[in-house]
Parts: sequence; structure tokens; C-alpha cells
Amino acid sequence: MSDSKILVEMQGVKQHFTVKKSRGQKATLYAVDGVDLTIEQGETFGLVGESGCGKSTLGKTLLRLYPLTAGKIIFDGKDISTLKGKELTQFRCQAQMIFQDPSSCLNPRRKIRDILLEPYRIHNLYTSQEREEKVLELCDMVGLSHIYLDRYPHEMSGGQKQRVGIARSLALHPKLIICDEPVSALDVSIQAQVINLLQDLQEKLDLTYLFISHNLSVVEHCCRRIGVMYLGHIVELAPAGTLCQHPLHPYTQALLSAVPTIGESPREKVVLTGDLPSPVSPPSGCPFHTRCPYASEVCRIQRPEFAEAAPGHWVACHQVKQFS
Ligand code: SF4
Repeated sequence: MSDSKILVEMQGVKQHFTVKKSRGQKATLYAVDGVDLTIEQGETFGLVGESGCGKSTLGKTLLRLYPLTAGKIIFDGKDISTLKGKELTQFRCQAQMIFQDPSSCLNPRRKIRDILLEPYRIHNLYTSQEREEKVLELCDMVGLSHIYLDRYPHEMSGGQKQRVGIARSLALHPKLIICDEPVSALDVSIQAQVINLLQDLQEKLDLTYLFISHNLSVVEHCCRRIGVMYLGHIVELAPAGTLCQHPLHPYTQALLSAVPTIGESPREKVVLTGDLPSPVSPPSGCPFHTRCPYASEVCRIQRPEFAEAAPGHWVACHQVKQFS
């Protein structure tokens, strides 16, 4: 890790939910189950994994959309784990979210101008004249023509709507933006434009991103470090190039071997059997043992420690030798 300032520190963060089973019985869903993570200021940290692995829940937990089950979150030097009321509202100005599907997060009955004015109204900031000026500035920042301000979301393309989502997330000058699959719902030709926009904004505004995606090639392109999540745990974490060139965890190897390569020699195939187990009844020992081609007896009994295998390269696997 460099000497850069740490913006986010998660220590043993757990986010469990009570769910109903058949015949009125209750069960615990272990969505996030003991995550330690740091994000440096100005960094883009990538979080990858299959649907249902807990990555979006981890993002929402960081935004304090749920009361934490256990653990601690330090944001910009302040413990935000138990904030409530006014203090929680103030924290949320500094941490915003961009969602996967821009259509579903923009109110279809409101014009774009009203959608962009909303954060200022909610937080009672600026005069009405100033708010109008701020909205124009937001449009300029994200490359959205002012003519869209009098349109409704359904009159815009997916890429334009995502620009509105990004503009809205910038309204309160946040330090951190959680980008939850921000380009997955867009055409490939538009994806690059949105990623370039996010990178330009990061440079101009000194933003920090938590970039959540199931697409490893997108994450490799735009993130400094990547964490791989499986069943509520981070199983591998390393600088993006290291993780993609020298993955150590069998799950990361399987994810990477599924990425199509053009002009490069194909990676050795690591084929996963079975589906992601239910987070309501996670396997004992290593959570990946039910699908791992290298699983041994110890994997079924003992959870592997998340340890540093090489400088800055962390992995949770009994088969990987630790760095000392
Ligand atoms: Fe596979 Fe065992 Fe390593 Fe888990 S600890 S990833 S089951 S080899």
C-alpha cells in the first residue's frame, strides 16, 4: 500500500438479514460476512464476483443504507458505523451511488431539471437562482446538453440517462461514489464513453470510486486494485494487473478463464461445477470448497485465513503459501 490517505476502512464488516423460510420459520442470510477493506483517496477500487455474492450489499452497507450487523466503517477518519439522524444525512452527502439501470432510478414523471434540483431541495441548499445555475454546471460537467433539462427520462437514451444519474450523484460534492454496475445496462459503444467520463471526473474532482461489476475486463481497465468476492467474503485482493495476470485463488482463476481473449494465448480453463451456494446456508470451512477443483479435506473443515501471499496481494486459500 502506498502512503496515500485512506478514505474508507472497513473492519470485519458483517451484513446479515433475517429472511422468512417456509412455514413461517426464520433464517439468517449472510450477505456480507466479515470484510476487511481499505480504499485510498483518489483510487478506483474494483469489486467483482457473481450475482448474489454480496458486492452490491457491501456497497450499500458502506453507504449505511442498513444498520451494520457487526464490524466498523471508518470514513475520512471518522467512525460512521453507528451514525444516525442528522450526522448520517451529512455523511450521505459525501458518499453517493450510481446505479446499474438508469431507467429504474430516475422518476419517470419528473423532468430532468427537477431530478437534478432534488438534492438541493432535500438538503435545503442555495437560492432558487443558484440552484438553477448549479444544475447547468452539472450538465456541463457530464456533457449533457441543456435541452434535455425539459425532457422526461423516457425521451432519452440509456447513455444520456446514465449521465443524468452521474450528474445527480455529483450535486452535493461527494468524496466517494459507489458505481454499482454503471455500464452493464448500456450498449458496448456507450460503455467506453461513460467510463471515460467517470475517469475525467475523478481527475477533475479528486473522486474516489468503489466500482462494482461482474465484468472483469471492465474492472481491469479502470481500477487500480481489485477485490474478488465470493459468498459474502473477499477471497482475493491485489493490484489490478497482478490479479489479472497472476490470479492465486481458484475462483479468480475461474472468473478470468471465462473472459474471452482476442489475440492473446487463451488462459487455462478452470471450470466451476454447480451454482453459487445459498448465503442462507453457506458451506463450512472454505466457502468455495463445494465448487473448487482443488478442494481437500482441510478445506471442508477450516476456513482459510485471508493472508498476504506477496506484497499487496492477499488471498484466502489453504493451497497458497503465505508471504513472510
Ligand atoms: Fe479451493 Fe481449498 Fe483453496 Fe478453498 S481453500 S479455494 S477449497 S483449495
